[in-house]
Formats: sequence, structure tokens, C-alpha cells
Amino acid sequence: AVVYRKIPDEYPLPGEHLVVESKELDENLNENELITRNLYFSLDPYLRNRMKPSKGFKADYTSRYEIGKTIDNYSVGEVIASKNPKYPVGAVVVGFLGLEEYTRVPANQSLKIIEGARESKLPLSYHVGALGMPGITAYGSLLDIGQPKAGETIYVSAASGAVGQLVGQIAKRLGLRVIGSAGSDEKVEFLLKDLKFDAAFNHKKGSILESLRAAAPEGIDIYYENVGGEALDAALEVLKHHGRIIVSGMITSYNSNAPYGYKNLINIVSKRLKIEGFISDDFSAETQTKFENDVSSWLLNRVIVFKEDVTVGLENAPEAFLGLYQGKNFGKAVVKIADL
Ligand code: NDP
Repeated sequence: AVVYRKIPDEYPLPGEHLVVESKELDENLNENELITRNLYFSLDPYLRNRMKPSKGFKADYTSRYEIGKTIDNYSVGEVIASKNPKYPVGAVVVGFLGLEEYTRVPANQSLKIIEGARESKLPLSYHVGALGMPGITAYGSLLDIGQPKAGETIYVSAASGAVGQLVGQIAKRLGLRVIGSAGSDEKVEFLLKDLKFDAAFNHKKGSILESLRAAAPEGIDIYYENVGGEALDAALEVLKHHGRIIVSGMITSYNSNAPYGYKNLINIVSKRLKIEGFISDDFSAETQTKFENDVSSWLLNRVIVFKEDVTVGLENAPEAFLGLYQGKNFGKAVVKIADL
């Protein structure tokens, strides 16, 4: 199991803040409890926020990890013992499970059964990626908040990541001109060649403002915000009047308390910009159903692609988690714990 041992000041370090340990599994189940054998665990940037001291933390929308406990998150697992009639042995489920080989799931916890999991043509790991939390994040926020229209231009930061690659491809389908930024030339090539973005640049080379201006000489209508800092300041400068900013996250701030010296915030006023943040479970049941139908059929028909970065083995998970904040993941970061 990967156990949370210490609150990080900056980066979450393997062996210090997250430690791989052996634990005993108590197999004596009470009524409605069950045990899963865990297959895939999702590594998401927001998990760093679950390692912050709770008091006074400005983004308190998520519970904190407890020191000494296994960390948990969206996962796929197989039920191997059950005293809960809703989840029979053999069911493949998606929900909150531990980053560990086996999880004893409490009686009151809900999971979702993945119907047809054993015959599925799509990888099971997609249930914590394109078909899971990052998927609804991209789909729901772009459509509901962004109100995108054909012919408009959108800029997506962290564009080769879990959320960004979906936002960009959905925007292309809707007839937008799509610009992406990512942290390596290889990622930029992926955006242009595989995802068919109209323009893309490496945010680590030169100034983001200059690269964005060159990619969008007439300005952008929508900025899809994943990173904050220099990218947001550049977008504020290049956005057109009445432009929109969809704020998904600001990963540049997750491991640092140092304030960023924004220069262009006043443009929100002068350009009459709209900025809206959200959390992935904000969207209506109707949007959720449309998302599941649309994204699964687009993936099955290869209308869109979804790149994953799969780390094999629990013992490698802490390093892969740290890698999220160093741009080491290329695609949706997932830990593979076992095969079905
Ligand atoms: P990604 O798969 O995009 O992985 C994170 C990427 O962020 C890295 O690969 C890296 O890409 C980039 N990055 C990391 N550190 C920095 C940095 N200091 N400066 C610039 N870029 C950096 O993650 P997700 O797609 O899962 O998440 C993207 C964003 O969406 C995050 O901010 C996350 O918190 C947010 N989010 C919000 C949700 C919500 O409910 N509001 C739900 C899900 C995600 P590169 O190499 O290209 O720089």
C-alpha cells in the first residue's frame, strides 16, 4: 500500500511523504462490506491538495488525507469477496479505492459496476480517465461553461494531459480553431499530428505571451485554464473583448505558496472577460449521460484518441505522482496494479 506519512512543504517526495508499506488485510467482513482486488488507480493533480493542512487552505473542496493511512482516489477494481448483494464477487467496479493491492470497502460506500467490463473494447483504465473524472471535467466545463461556437479560437494549456487532450479534441469537433501548449517538443508534435490541433507550442521555450500571440494573431475567444501563472497572464493579454476563461485548475500553484505576480488581471475589467471555475461533480445528470454516450462512442469509432501514461506497479506510484508536477507524464497518468 502507498501510505501518506508526512505533509509536504513543496513537492510530495517518494519515501518521505508517500511510502510503500506492507499492511495486513482483515478479511472478516461485516454486513455490506466487500473486498476489491485493485487494478488501476488514477493519479490526479488535485491529490496534492489533499496533502495540505486543512485549516485556512483556500481550496477546501476536497477531504484531506490522514497521516498513516493509505491514499485513495478514483480506481478500478474487481470484487473478490462480498457481503454486499449490490456488488457480487466478480463484478468490476469503479469508485474510490486505496492505492494498494486490496481494499476493504466500508458498508456505506457506493461504487459503480462497469457493465460488460470483461468484453469491453476500450481499456478498463479509461474509466478513471476519458470515461471518468477527467472526462466529465473536460466535456462538462467546455460545453456548459465555455459555450463554444464554431469559428471561435480556444487556447488550452497542459494540452497533452488528461483533461487538455479531450478539451482540444472536443473543441475541434465543434469547429473551433484550437491552440495548445505543452512542456516538450514531443508533446507539441502529438498535439499537432495526432490530435490535429491548429497550432501548438512548447511553453518551456521562450515567452508564452509571444508564442500565443504568434499562434493567435487575431486573439482568442476562450482560454481553458489548467496551469495558472505565466500562461494565465499571457491569455489575459491575448483574449478578445468578452472572452471567456474556463478555470479547471492551476497546477503551477499546487506545490508552492509563492504568489505569482500577475500583470494583466486588470484586463478582466477592460475587456469585459468572464471567468468561471467549477468542480468535476458540478454537472447535471443530463450532461453526465450525454458525456458518457458521446465520449465512449467517439473513442470506439476512433473519432478522438486518448493517450495514457501507465505506470506499472504500486512501488513506482509515488515517483509517478511526483512526475505529474514535473511534466513527466505524457497523457493521463494511471497506475496499473494488476490485470483483470
Ligand atoms: P495532466 O495530465 O495535464 O498532468 C499535469 C500536467 O501539468 C503535466 O504533465 C505538465 O504538462 C503540466 N504541469 C505540471 N506542472 C506544471 C507547471 N509548474 N507549470 C506548467 N505546467 C505544469 O493533469 P490533468 O489533466 O489531470 O489536470 C489538468 C488540470 O485540471 C490540473 O490543474 C487539475 O487540477 C485540473 N483538474 C480540475 C478538475 C476540476 O474538477 N476542476 C478535475 C480534473 C483536473 P506539461 O509537460 O505540458 O507542462
